[in-house]
Amino acid sequence: MRLLPGADFAPLEELDAYRQWLWSQQRDYVREHSDLYRDVWTGHDVPENLDDLAALPLVDKDMLRASQREHPPFGAYLASAPADVRRVHRTGGTTGEAMNLALSAADAEDTAEVGARAQRASGLGPGDVVIHCLNYQLWMGGFTDHTTLEATGATVVPFGVGNTDLLVRTIRELGVTAISCTPSYPAVLEQVLAEQGVVPRDLGLRLGLFGGEAALDVPGFRSRLEQTWGFAARNSNYGVTDIMCNFAGQCEQQDALHFMAMDVLHPELIDSAAAVLPWKSGSSGELVLTHVARDCQPLVRFRTGDIVTLESTEPCACGRTAPRLRVTGRADDMVVVRGVNVFPTSVAALVTADPALSGEYRIVLRGDGPYDTLPLEIERARDVDEPWEDIRARVGARARADLRVTAEVSVLDFGALPRTEGKTRRVVRMSEEEA
Ligand SMILES: [Zn+2]
Repeated sequence: MRLLPGADFAPLEELDAYRQWLWSQQRDYVREHSDLYRDVWTGHDVPENLDDLAALPLVDKDMLRASQREHPPFGAYLASAPADVRRVHRTGGTTGEAMNLALSAADAEDTAEVGARAQRASGLGPGDVVIHCLNYQLWMGGFTDHTTLEATGATVVPFGVGNTDLLVRTIRELGVTAISCTPSYPAVLEQVLAEQGVVPRDLGLRLGLFGGEAALDVPGFRSRLEQTWGFAARNSNYGVTDIMCNFAGQCEQQDALHFMAMDVLHPELIDSAAAVLPWKSGSSGELVLTHVARDCQPLVRFRTGDIVTLESTEPCACGRTAPRLRVTGRADDMVVVRGVNVFPTSVAALVTADPALSGEYRIVLRGDGPYDTLPLEIERARDVDEPWEDIRARVGARARADLRVTAEVSVLDFGALPRTEGKTRRVVRMSEEEA
């Protein structure tokens, strides 16, 4: 293992030195073995010091996708021998063709332990029985996330998705204490339980571990979930598939995400012009990550596309030194309405705070913009019969006050918007013709 044991509790100076030491080996390895970086770095001096990393060009998902198209299946950034690939995941992603993700034995081992740091911080450990309800088919969220849960010392039940009747029976018969799933999955389960006349609280779960969507950062959504289910709901699973499937999670003391990989991932923040921002509390920008210990597909200065705010670099009440950040949204989910940046997470905050609404919503954009208004579809909560005109006026006023935009609100009946077991698409872009 290339990790520093207990890195989530280690002094940051020690972690900086450790990362630096790993980088001194990783830079030579990447230079020698990654054809993609040999091209990207032509004419650049590869810095010895991580503090000088900004001298190197950024790499993004489109470049990786193009590289896999030209050099299938793993792209010209496969730096290990093909025989050293021990595990392969495929991701359809939310856009475009499948990406192939390769892990060596050491890559997989590091991934499991870094993910376990996040799951442990959220309260999972020996004695727990956790049922894992993410899709196991090809996707990293299935099997590889399963390994992170196992690495905490908990007992793990590999359930996957679908067959909710069997899921409810399994939770009861195995004495399951925790569930790991997407934040939108409980809504699916609630429908099944309602048909069976079962109250979610009666399942006896004490911990809900979520990832994959930012909805949990919205206080209204989280408290609704906790009240309905009687468990503590935590985002224990934030990652970037091309980098590492889970490297950040909430602890029991606070709501920001502890960045758990200060030993093996070098983080940077950049502004919209790609200039590096200071790594200090309050900085907000796109998260850029560099592997300092990775065999198969090492990345250097990879743009994650996620906009994050570094909330604190001070030690947490839980004892962890791991810096705390919040994910504001996807750079490409950001909707600009008359010059104001709107993220789906802030729309979610507004929608879940209103008890007359179900909490489901969609932003349906027609054409390429620019947009003068925010086209927002929302749903009445179950059994609410307040006139839609009143709801529309109230939500419109909130949008003006909280988001500083004019919203064009459509109020739908309960159940009209699609519920999915995977990632729910909150921003839908339609061409002029489709509209
Ligand atoms: Zn903490």
